[in-house]
Amino acid sequence: MNKAFVREPDADGRAYCPRCNTTGAPVGSTVLNNLVLPTLRNKLGDSAWFCPYARCDVAYFDEFETVIGVEELQRKIYPHDLDAPICSCFGLSYDDVQADAREPVPSRIRQLWTRSQSAEARCHEIAPDGQCCFAEVQRLYMKLKDQPR
Ligand SMILES: [Zn+2]
Repeated sequence: MNKAFVREPDADGRAYCPRCNTTGAPVGSTVLNNLVLPTLRNKLGDSAWFCPYARCDVAYFDEFETVIGVEELQRKIYPHDLDAPICSCFGLSYDDVQADAREPVPSRIRQLWTRSQSAEARCHEIAPDGQCCFAEVQRLYMKLKDQPR
């Protein structure tokens, strides 16, 4: 590959997936250790970026365009696989959010909010993007709520 086309991370730390050009979410070694297959873990250093684009087969990439695919992880991840839990900590799934969207009270999501504020939440260690899933859960809930049944 012509290295002239490799995109350096921006000064503000943003980097773009080499396959789909989506802005990546920065992750550290704890997340990578917990997600990447141990035999492939040494392909990446202590930091990388997570590609959050559902239809992209890249999970992680670094500034040298080294890529870990979604098939090279220890488990299936959302949103690349909609059957995988959205919430790595408590297992809330797409189906749970859909069920809440069809009921008058989003009880599963309310319970998730309470738990996500507790010491049980380990998003920074085990979520694929190292972040709390709640923003994504809310976004998905609003989307499903608006859909005609
Ligand atoms: Zn991508």
